[in-house]
Amino acid sequence: MSSKITIPKICTFCKEGFVAKTTVTKFCSHKCACRAYKLRERDAKLEKVQKTEYFNSVGIDMKHIQTKEFLSIKETCLLLGISRMSLYRYIKSGNILSLQLGGRVIIKRAILDSLLNK
Ligand SMILES: [Zn+2]
Repeated sequence: MSSKITIPKICTFCKEGFVAKTTVTKFCSHKCACRAYKLRERDAKLEKVQKTEYFNSVGIDMKHIQTKEFLSIKETCLLLGISRMSLYRYIKSGNILSLQLGGRVIIKRAILDSLLNK
């Protein structure tokens, strides 16, 4: 194989055509690679902030939920990202097993984990 291999590519960031020396190169220049990286970092940060703000606004700590063994209806809805109505429907149809505890409905988190990992 020749070491002078050249691969015509399109820069993922600026969409300009360029010639790559390896098949894994995605950017035309170091500048584009840096900018793309920063953009990705910013998006990830923004998403994290938005999520945290949402959970703070509803008064629920997501980390706390993830360590709990049993969850309330409200916490289950948040964890699954579904509405209260949908959750009750799942419970009624037997898709999600729930427990009655002193008039309160609680759901074992392990059940949800197995549902999510299907
Ligand atoms: Zn570029």
